[in-house]
Amino acid sequence: MGSMVKAKCPCGFQKGVRIGGGMLTFLTESVFPHYCKRCGLVEVNICERKKRCPTCSSSRVYAYGSSRVSPHDNGDRTIAWQEYAASASQHFCPSCKKYHLNFEEIGSFD
Ligand SMILES: [Zn+2]
Ligand SMILES: [Zn+2]
Repeated sequence: MGSMVKAKCPCGFQKGVRIGGGMLTFLTESVFPHYCKRCGLVEVNICERKKRCPTCSSSRVYAYGSSRVSPHDNGDRTIAWQEYAASASQHFCPSCKKYHLNFEEIGSFD
């Protein structure tokens, strides 16, 4: 149902994130990688009407694939869930603050 994605940047930053939700829970909980100013790359529950950072509860989170953190997104939908999608490369890196972050699908979960 959901997929496991690895976010990786040439600067050394690396983090595994989930996309989507479990078979039984996806209607109330499904996640997509977002950028939080304070926490960096986080999994935000997109089923909630008000999107919030799961760590600091800030509402200032930006979905990867949106122009705010992925202005160079080419629309290839390397990672996608419902209306959320992001291409493979050139996303904002929370570590080096450059648009060098890549996404790579590495598996799935259910
Ligand atoms: Zn946060
Ligand atoms: Zn980086």
